[in-house]
Amino acid sequence: MSQHCLSCGACCAAFRVSFYWAETDAHPSGTVPQALTQAISPHHVCMQGTEKNPVHCIALEGEVGKQVSCNIYALRSSTCREFNAGSEACNRARAIHRLPAIAAEN
Ligand code: SF4
Ligand code: SF4
Repeated sequence: MSQHCLSCGACCAAFRVSFYWAETDAHPSGTVPQALTQAISPHHVCMQGTEKNPVHCIALEGEVGKQVSCNIYALRSSTCREFNAGSEACNRARAIHRLPAIAAEN
């Protein structure tokens, strides 16, 4: 995780965070607590709180742009794990929260 993320959290409060239902613990090999998700189609769910406005994932603790943490970090979805700090989408989320753009890290 980028050091920037610890004082950001913008991407957890900017987009609908959706993924295949089998990533939830409703499936034997899933991890994301199903209780924290919301069905959005027959085969997909999203993190609760990311399906409405203002967006704020139910698992996000703290204050965006100050200090944040994810309550289910070890159990989070592939959508969360594959989101890259410094990517175009990252900087779009940061801009929504009036945070300056950052560069991608290797
Ligand atoms: S928006 Fe970018 S910097 Fe902020 S938490 Fe997400 S990945 Fe990290
Ligand atoms: S599950 Fe964690 S990493 Fe994923 S959007 Fe919610 S707070 Fe962010």
